[in-house]
Amino acid sequence: MSRIVIRGGLVVTAAEEVHADVLVEGGRVAALASHDSDPARGWTASADRVIDATGKYVIPGGVDAHTHMELPFGGTFASDTFETGTRAAAWGGTTTIVDFAVQSVGEPLRAGLDSWHAKADAQCAIDYGFHMILSDVNEDTLKEMDILVEEGVTSFKLFMAYPGVFYSDDGRILRAMQRGADNGGLIMMHAENGIAIDVLVEQALAAGRTDPRYHGEVRHALLEAEATHRAIRLAQVAGSPLYVVHVSARQAVEQITLARDEGLNVFGETCPQYLFLSTDNLAEPDFEGAKYVCSTPLRPREHQAVLWRALRTNDLQVVSTDHCPFCFVGQKELGRGDFSKIPNGLPGVENRMDLLHQAVVDGHISRRRWIEIACATPARMFGLYPRKGTIAPGADADIVVYDPDAEQVVSAATHHMNVDYSAYEGKRITGRVETVLSRGEPVIDGREYVGRAGHGQYTPRGTCQYLV
Ligand SMILES: [Zn+2]
Repeated sequence: MSRIVIRGGLVVTAAEEVHADVLVEGGRVAALASHDSDPARGWTASADRVIDATGKYVIPGGVDAHTHMELPFGGTFASDTFETGTRAAAWGGTTTIVDFAVQSVGEPLRAGLDSWHAKADAQCAIDYGFHMILSDVNEDTLKEMDILVEEGVTSFKLFMAYPGVFYSDDGRILRAMQRGADNGGLIMMHAENGIAIDVLVEQALAAGRTDPRYHGEVRHALLEAEATHRAIRLAQVAGSPLYVVHVSARQAVEQITLARDEGLNVFGETCPQYLFLSTDNLAEPDFEGAKYVCSTPLRPREHQAVLWRALRTNDLQVVSTDHCPFCFVGQKELGRGDFSKIPNGLPGVENRMDLLHQAVVDGHISRRRWIEIACATPARMFGLYPRKGTIAPGADADIVVYDPDAEQVVSAATHHMNVDYSAYEGKRITGRVETVLSRGEPVIDGREYVGRAGHGQYTPRGTCQYLV
């Protein structure tokens, strides 16, 4: 059984910041002891390997609860495979992803889940789990939900947007929520009024407003807020918890805050793109704005302060990426002359931990809150804690040695995601991943990739740990 000691660093979890050495045995965290104590000295003497973390942070690997590797969308596929996407995630200090298996309309959930397993099996550099996208709620699929929860697929995403593709009407949503209330499944909601948005899309295109920036205008903040409100009330009627994905609008945050103040089990996630980018990016000339087309859309800059505040006050609890990359050349370009044909999605799985560390440096959040929103809470929300999301005896040794003083400039020229642009091109960031362990095995070792496709294991999940 290999013994690794990570020595001399500052261990930061959601709960604590302690100067401690960490003993890893057999892929798990065995113990923590204060630096240079007798036990720690003993470990160092007998270790197979000692990783020097002096002056560095020792943090749990990131848990990105919202990725879309190889997602089919708008006649093309997200450009990261499970192999390239999980490798890039590791480079950025993320050691677990929860990706979305997709049910196609008319197919059982099982068929969708099987095909996502086939895509991911033996490909991943880090551990992974699945949520299930429900595109077709009916008697059979409701029954299948129970089985999936038992098997460790414990969360189900529904869409109030994308009529004709993923969309569910309120009746179907209510049924799925009722089932979730019974079987423990957590309903995740893409909350935008897609029926109304499609009218505005049609009107915009008819009026010749075809540029990417109109994507942001037709997907109105009020239509996010309205859908968020409706989802909350449907969940309340069903007696089910609700997790709202990719919250971007101030008005939607207000709905979530109100629901939480009422004591409802309503949770909210936002993403780095809403915290760091804005409609200014969507308005970039020469079709460059297409690089920033995602749904919910980027909002005017003034929404950012509300999102940061909500992350501090715990009205929003999680930052995931919604990583869904499409190359500018050949993919985003499908929407030249018609913004509605631009594939929706941004790359980010590699950037999340660094961007949120920059937020620590900038004073938006504390160090422990960084770990909480990026590691611990997503792990708890989706039934992976305490195996994932913390550094504690018994936890998987998914550990990142993070250099808080290193300087880097984000660029497509140096990133590892399989996409030809960066949404954060040229952004200066203080802090960088140095070494990453996944279940005790080095994946990134001193800024060198030493992982392999197939190391990452499928990880069945328990139910949400925030419900009483
Ligand atoms: Zn998504």
